[in-house]
Amino acid sequence: MLDSKAQPPGPPAPDAHLHPETRLVHGGILRSQFGETSEALFLTQGFVYDRAETCEARFKNEDPGYQYTRYSNPTVSMFEDRLAMLEGAEACRAVATGMAAVNGALMGLVKAGDHVVAPRAMFGSCRWIIEEMLPRFGVTSTLVDGTDLDQWRKAAATPNTTVFFLETPCNPTLEVLDIAGIAAIAHEVGALLIVDNVFATPLYQRPLALGADVVVYSATKHIDGQGRCMGGAILASKVLIEERIQLYLRMTGPSISPFNAWVLLKSLELMPVRIARQAETAGRLADAMLGIPGVTKVIYPGRKDHPQADVIARQMSGPSTLIAFEVTGGKAGAFRFQNALKLVSISNNLGDVKSLITHPATTTHSRFKPEERADLGISDGMLRLSVGLEHIDDLVADLKQAAEVL
Ligand SMILES: *Cc1c(COP(=O)(O)O)cnc(C)c1O
Repeated sequence: MLDSKAQPPGPPAPDAHLHPETRLVHGGILRSQFGETSEALFLTQGFVYDRAETCEARFKNEDPGYQYTRYSNPTVSMFEDRLAMLEGAEACRAVATGMAAVNGALMGLVKAGDHVVAPRAMFGSCRWIIEEMLPRFGVTSTLVDGTDLDQWRKAAATPNTTVFFLETPCNPTLEVLDIAGIAAIAHEVGALLIVDNVFATPLYQRPLALGADVVVYSATKHIDGQGRCMGGAILASKVLIEERIQLYLRMTGPSISPFNAWVLLKSLELMPVRIARQAETAGRLADAMLGIPGVTKVIYPGRKDHPQADVIARQMSGPSTLIAFEVTGGKAGAFRFQNALKLVSISNNLGDVKSLITHPATTTHSRFKPEERADLGISDGMLRLSVGLEHIDDLVADLKQAAEVL
């Protein structure tokens, strides 16, 4: 049996000299008495105690074993510890979805009277939480142009600014924000910076090392990588997680299923191989797309003509599996193009091994007014392509034949 005294968790001392690929295969293993090679799935709600005294001690936090899966679970701990080792974070809490991670991080850190600063360009649901939900609890916000550091500085000048929240590269325009510069402004006013690192993945961008205080993920995307399980994670210092965030999660219950945590744990092992190939294909595809008639603009974080190429060179160690591009003919052109694709599927999801395409103006960003979309750089002819593991030649051929309708 797992030694209950040894649990739960806190990552086993991360071997800092090991490379990410190695940590993702060996990190955070809690091996049972059977000595399994592949990590065990503890699909259980509860845990039994040998004696009433043990149970009492555990509820008093004097015995560090497991109590109830809403609080923690050995399979979930393995996923958390492995991700924490990769990220270089002291602590991680896994949750049911990416939005549960965003909500959990924000709700754990703010209180009535606080002020949050965030960019206008953000994943739609994150913007809803900040603009629509937080005000119900007395938390105000200012939305800025994320690329303009002066706007962050100005917005933070109110004495009650406690949290900065951002996402980079952001959805769907792949605009890139200066994490170190924004973290410094946050810390000048005593605020904490939360970074949604979904688009970069923990392999290509390390916000904590750049000065961020909290990193959140939708594990649904590149971490699963195969379009199966929903999941999310919050990573930060032990103090922030244990004193500010953990109790909110335990009491409100956005817990991840141990089954989903197991899938995501095993997915982490292959993530570097998948992402490296998908990003390489995306880079080649981005270049090829510029030569396709009807494609008028390509935004890709790996290209020298990306508007924030200098920031990317400073803060990212790899490019992206996503490409934003524009086609002629506005919405009608974008629709004709999507409908003509044979291999690439129309889906608002991303990070899958299957290539997926979406039209942000009528899906993820349809709740915004046309002028708001224009301000974010989302035109009616813009499409977002999530590049999968298909062969580059097949993808180029599919995009080329679809572009004939433009
Ligand atoms: C998908 C996504 C989320 C939300 O994650 P879910 O797992 O769908 O809840 C948050 N932020 C970004 C940038 C995303 O792409």
